[in-house]
Amino acid sequence: MRGRSFFHDEIKCASCGYTMDSSIHHEGNDVVPSPGDVALCFRCATIHVFNADGVPEIPSKEKLAEAQADQEVQKAINRLKDFWKRAPH
Ligand SMILES: [Zn+2]
Repeated sequence: MRGRSFFHDEIKCASCGYTMDSSIHHEGNDVVPSPGDVALCFRCATIHVFNADGVPEIPSKEKLAEAQADQEVQKAINRLKDFWKRAPH
């Protein structure tokens, strides 16, 4: 994965337990996330959303549905899945 990391408080994915302390913009740009921006678990692609403190958390049902309908989010999820398909496990 290319791009620069944005570091945040360490969180564990609510779905798979993977520990994350940084996020990479899916287009590889150096972007500081805004509250409400979507972050995916690097391992299982579970959708998280940045809160006001810049920490990704599991979104509300409404926000989750909104994120799932977002083409950019779908693209990023597919990219992650591709990455894991090619990566040795
Ligand atoms: Zn996960």
